[in-house]
Amino acid sequence: MRFATLTQLKELCGELGVPISQAMMIEQARETGQTGAHIFEQMAAYYQIMKEAVARGLGPGVRSRSGLTGGDAKRVKDYAEHEMPSLGGEAAKAMAYALAVSEVNASMGRIIATPTAGSCGIIPGVFVSAQERFGWEDDVLVRGLFAAGAIGYVIANNSFVSGAEGGCQAEVGSAIGMAAGALTELRGGTPEQAVHAVGLALKNSLGLICDPVAGLVEIPCIVRNGFGAVTALAAADMALAGVVSAIPSDEVIGVMLEVGTAMPAKHRETAKGGLAQTPTGRRIMKELYEKDGKEGRT
Ligand code: SF4
Repeated sequence: MRFATLTQLKELCGELGVPISQAMMIEQARETGQTGAHIFEQMAAYYQIMKEAVARGLGPGVRSRSGLTGGDAKRVKDYAEHEMPSLGGEAAKAMAYALAVSEVNASMGRIIATPTAGSCGIIPGVFVSAQERFGWEDDVLVRGLFAAGAIGYVIANNSFVSGAEGGCQAEVGSAIGMAAGALTELRGGTPEQAVHAVGLALKNSLGLICDPVAGLVEIPCIVRNGFGAVTALAAADMALAGVVSAIPSDEVIGVMLEVGTAMPAKHRETAKGGLAQTPTGRRIMKELYEKDGKEGRT
């Protein structure tokens, strides 16, 4: 790839005279030797899986294998349709869709890791709800996935995208940044605005620890995806309104690396700290292990 940072990505877009999504498609074709059409087709297939996961998650009967979670996406969707959500209907819909995909993940259903399974709800939540709202064809969203991919590529190469390495800021935080930057482009923002959206979004999740109860990607992961979708919408709107990330987005990514590196192991997916080790978190873990006939971890 001819970019390793968001600044370089922005410069490449300037040189080529293309948006981030197209720069990513060009670079991916160069890197892999595959045709643009093939790469696009592959991404289009991923988007279909995301849409299917949203639809499945909003339906009845989605429960996680553990029995701990499920049904919240439908609850939020029904509430948004019949009540007056404080967020407004559109953001509530994005939140419901993000919850839906995360619940499908917890039920061992098919999802696309964006960038990981733990944060798989945010991009579909933002994209599928935006598609419905703005009446976009699938191809528009597929292009958006390339923009999101370019942003994720930069984050992964300069920081981390896994909770085990850098805490939840790396998983949910990265997904929020990817969704925010991509949506900014899809709404007509410049590469510069999209890059600002990434920085604005990432700042809001710096320091977020990874503390899944019983080591399962359910509590608090699923609701964090719901919140993440809303934050991505907010970051895109700020950037489109002209708000800039006063700390350049590449430097924010550097802070994510610094914070994640300093994070104790108990807050990096080990379930040995945070919400996982609250009295309730420990009780849930104990009950699950007893149910499975296994020895509970402490
Ligand atoms: S809490 Fe950990 S496992 Fe759950 S979404 Fe965040 S990083 Fe992933």
